[in-house]
Amino acid sequence: MAGRRGPVSGDYCVCTIPPMVLKDVPSDFSDPVKAAIAYAVGVSVGKIGLEYRRRFWEEDEDILGGITNTNLDLSTIWYPSYGYLGRRGTVIGYYNFGANAETYSRLTPEERRARAVAQGKKIHGDPYETELDSHFSVAWHRTRYSQGGWVSWPSRTAGQYELLLQPEGHTYFAGDHLSYYIAWQSGAIDSARKVVTELHDRVLATA
Ligand SMILES: Cc1cc2nc3c(=O)[nH]c(=O)nc-3n(C[C@H](O)[C@H](O)[C@H](O)COP(=O)(O)OP(=O)(O)OC[C@H]3O[C@@H](n4cnc5c(N)ncnc54)[C@H](O)[C@@H]3O)c2cc1C
Repeated sequence: MAGRRGPVSGDYCVCTIPPMVLKDVPSDFSDPVKAAIAYAVGVSVGKIGLEYRRRFWEEDEDILGGITNTNLDLSTIWYPSYGYLGRRGTVIGYYNFGANAETYSRLTPEERRARAVAQGKKIHGDPYETELDSHFSVAWHRTRYSQGGWVSWPSRTAGQYELLLQPEGHTYFAGDHLSYYIAWQSGAIDSARKVVTELHDRVLATA
């Protein structure tokens, strides 16, 4: 089907599309299920990768991997845990959430770099700017098929979360947002295992 559009038919569907995206996909789900899907809130999450020509944090500052927790709008700076004292390296210049992620996401990629570097220089000094080679940033809440880094449920006991744990006819919903480990791959695996087990039991019972 790559590159082509067309209908696909099947006995069952396991839908792992993030609810922030799914809410805008036309469907014949019941109104309560549509409302439950729309209830999920996408969390604003941002990161920037800063590629350096020289690993000054290792050579000059004896920082070998790990994270600096800042009180700046960067939130955290992450250092690579590979290739120690090698030639080049990429630092995560910010990994932030909520209001800080939204602030950066409103900027152009070039402005994000300028702001992140100006902030990081307060910690690492001039090399943080002079050794920079290239950069790449992502705002997950503004990424078309994500619409959020992960899901935040306003409540998980108000009915919506529980409803999506049940199949809607022949459609099952799965993903880390339907587990106790949101924002972790283990949550997606837990959810997948639950749904596949339920589907397996159902098919065996109706065979
Ligand atoms: C910045 C960040 C850092 C993270 N760090 C970690 C970590 O260190 N460790 C960890 O365990 N987890 C981490 N996670 C979480 C991990 O990525 C998720 O838990 C996992 O990817 C969830 O898997 P999923 O299958 O539920 O959803 P996803 O991986 O989000 O898969 C959903 C898929 O649906 C696709 N899709 C969207 N719309 C449509 C459509 N209309 N039609 C068809 N397909 C569609 C998307 O393109 C996507 O491929 C991180 C997440 C983020 C954003």
